[in-house]
Amino acid sequence: MSKDTKILIPEIPGEWTERTRSGWKCIWNDGWHGKPHRNGLPYVELTAPEKGLYADRIDGAWYWVSGCAKCTGSGERYSYSVCEKHDVCIRCNTHRSLLKETPWGHPDGFICKPCQDREDAADKAEALAKVAERDYDEWGYRAQDECKCPHCATVIHIESEDYGDKNMDCDTCGGQFELTTEYSVTFTTRVIGDRIVA
Ligand SMILES: [Zn+2]
Ligand SMILES: [Zn+2]
Ligand SMILES: [Zn+2]
Repeated sequence: MSKDTKILIPEIPGEWTERTRSGWKCIWNDGWHGKPHRNGLPYVELTAPEKGLYADRIDGAWYWVSGCAKCTGSGERYSYSVCEKHDVCIRCNTHRSLLKETPWGHPDGFICKPCQDREDAADKAEALAKVAERDYDEWGYRAQDECKCPHCATVIHIESEDYGDKNMDCDTCGGQFELTTEYSVTFTTRVIGDRIVA
């Protein structure tokens, strides 16, 4: 497949314009929740002849064209039509069919588990080496603006709805720690009635 791939789809009349995509399949005249489309045209579904192709209407006719971001050079992220050749780990190029474990998704494709494990180990070693440059002082982890792992000093973002006191595991170093959400008190005053003046 290349970015110039353009295979005519004779089954689909050029006047049809309602096309949706679902994985490898392209569907024409798909109504809402299984109902016929209100344009009255028949429902047709076709599977692309090759992985990474999808149907596009060009100059009033339907063609299978490449949707693979790497074949077309579009750089599209979270692309869901990746061709067979480019369905590989973005780090080590291992093909998806050869993976032994579930890979990690990535905007540019996927990262295989061994590559991800290697990167995680490198991140952990880097964080621990950096924190080891200074002596551990528990005051450096008290009443901070951010939640900072007391083992490796990695800052962990916590959404306000997750505030609270709990035990946590650090994703970077795997260490366990206790999180206490500290609140500070401020005071606001508003006049009742008329303000007393001199
Ligand atoms: Zn490709
Ligand atoms: Zn890999
Ligand atoms: Zn940590």
